[in-house]
Amino acid sequence: MKITKVRAHVLEARLSQPFSYSRARYTTRTTMVVEIETDVGLVGWGECYGPARINAAVVESLSTLLIGQDPMRGEWIWREIYSRYRDHGQKGSIIQGLSGIDIALWDLKGKFLGQPIHRLMGGPLRSEVRAYATGLYRRDEGRPDVYLAEEAAGYASEGFNAVKLKVGFGVSEDARVTKAIRDAIGPTVGLLIDANHAYDAVSAIKLGRKIEGLDIGWFEEPVPPEDVAGHRQVREALTIPIASGECEFTRFGFRDLITTRAVDIVQPDTCSAGGLSECKKIADFAETYNLRYAPHVWGSGIAMAAALQLLAVIPSFTPLSLNPVEPMLEFDRTEHPIREALLLVPIEHRKGIVQVPDGPGLGIEIDRRVLEQFAKAT
Ligand code: CA
Repeated sequence: MKITKVRAHVLEARLSQPFSYSRARYTTRTTMVVEIETDVGLVGWGECYGPARINAAVVESLSTLLIGQDPMRGEWIWREIYSRYRDHGQKGSIIQGLSGIDIALWDLKGKFLGQPIHRLMGGPLRSEVRAYATGLYRRDEGRPDVYLAEEAAGYASEGFNAVKLKVGFGVSEDARVTKAIRDAIGPTVGLLIDANHAYDAVSAIKLGRKIEGLDIGWFEEPVPPEDVAGHRQVREALTIPIASGECEFTRFGFRDLITTRAVDIVQPDTCSAGGLSECKKIADFAETYNLRYAPHVWGSGIAMAAALQLLAVIPSFTPLSLNPVEPMLEFDRTEHPIREALLLVPIEHRKGIVQVPDGPGLGIEIDRRVLEQFAKAT
């Protein structure tokens, strides 16, 4: 089997209702899909998280290196790309482009062998995964303590046993809204908060102390990703577990977060931190330090399928303060027209539980018409 063509599809969809988090307001959703064709007629799919056009340029420029290669040699290809661009691309778009390529190569490997990726990685350890609901973003109008409480209660009644709230809007405001969400979902549903690195260590600790009594499952990205010591400072000051890693790349990037115990939960994005090959290594690295792994997912059904294949082979954790202690899938509940349409059979939850796809490769089928429908004009 040889690679014959590599394509990067940049997709964009306008939202019916814009929404915001601590650092930006979304009016559109974009997706960057990697498609790798082979001489045996098999096609592999991947996705890159991050700036879509820049990542597409990375993937397109790497295509000359990929064409003619054997896609089964994913480890060799990963190392070849990484070492060629090591001097300039240890983090960011080079690794995000490589992530989408690596996922597509795993999809091809699975299709060629007729096995789901998790079987090729030695699993499954589980065939279904508990999901937590990511939503609770700010709207342009209304009182957040009212509309977010309503939204959170809705996720709880759908069967999700944890929800994630966006914070980073000021310590007092965050504390007030967090309390409103806890009241809305009751004491038994997990409550996670995510500041998207809006704070410095001092403010993050101040917020943490105000909400420590609300049984917060984790405090995600309290401080900027470069501030490893700040993560550790927050972690040491609070009893709330600290999560981070969606802006970090490769096992080399995660080394300091893990070995200095700056976090309790590592959160690489499979479509950004180096793909399935690298994220399996980061997961093993985290396990070595007895840290939890919770993949960041903010993409289409390809990103969800990749995360699920990995979640199927990640071991359970020693208990911390959040139930359950099985690794969880981040299940984005915000509006995403591309995510809804791209898979012929969408990935759904049933009472907060998601089945790991068990077809060959990623176990998904792409609706090619959607690639044209949402193609971004260049
Ligand atoms: Ca996040």
